[in-house]
Amino acid sequence: MIPDWAAERRWMVDTQLRWRGISDERVLAVMGEIPREEFVPIEARILAYRDEPCPIGYGQTISQPYMTALMAQEMRLTGMEKALEVGAGSGYAAAVMGRLGARVVTIEIVPQLVELARANLRRTHCDAGVEVIYGDGGWGYPDEAPYDAISVAAGAPDIPEALLEQLADPGVLVIPVGGFGDQELRVVTKHHAHIHSRVSTLCRFVPLRGGEGWR
Ligand code: SAH
Repeated sequence: MIPDWAAERRWMVDTQLRWRGISDERVLAVMGEIPREEFVPIEARILAYRDEPCPIGYGQTISQPYMTALMAQEMRLTGMEKALEVGAGSGYAAAVMGRLGARVVTIEIVPQLVELARANLRRTHCDAGVEVIYGDGGWGYPDEAPYDAISVAAGAPDIPEALLEQLADPGVLVIPVGGFGDQELRVVTKHHAHIHSRVSTLCRFVPLRGGEGWR
């Protein structure tokens, strides 16, 4: 039997996102539209709308839907922004940001996942305005800086300096910072050259790799 994906999506939006306090109607609408099942491996499709991260290969995961929604909400995308994502993975979060109207540059350190993200975005017609780049996002992507919003999808020991530098003013950076296993999701804003940081929630992301990550 083929699952009713649209019904599963509605269920995810209502019971996982809205119920936990995601209130940005644009984020809820976009996540109610994008076929998340297309971003998980075929054999894991049945898990596509579960309230947890899901393996996508190479030791990596597509984040829990709630976390993707929270990060997108914290980025406050209105449609005018240029956004940078570190850690494209499956491409799902980039699809969400792209549909929110932002121009998105997403950078991924595992070459096979660069290909996977590109293929997933193309197949689901979520690739408009979304560029997937191979590289170490710990250094940001200076070629297209500054970015109005930056999202890091892997846990960092500290906030990489390059990301703060490439953040526009005003701009917002959402990043999990902390230990190898547990982090706090920080929302860092730049406004009139002043940096402010607050903790949005506790979280558990895969470790950031590369020069600014865990070796
Ligand atoms: N946003 C993704 C979640 C991916 S999980 C999604 O929606 O599916 C985090 C990803 O970050 C992994 O794919 C991992 O390979 C990647 N990553 C880890 N360190 C990185 C780095 N320094 N630069 C770029 N990507 C990195």
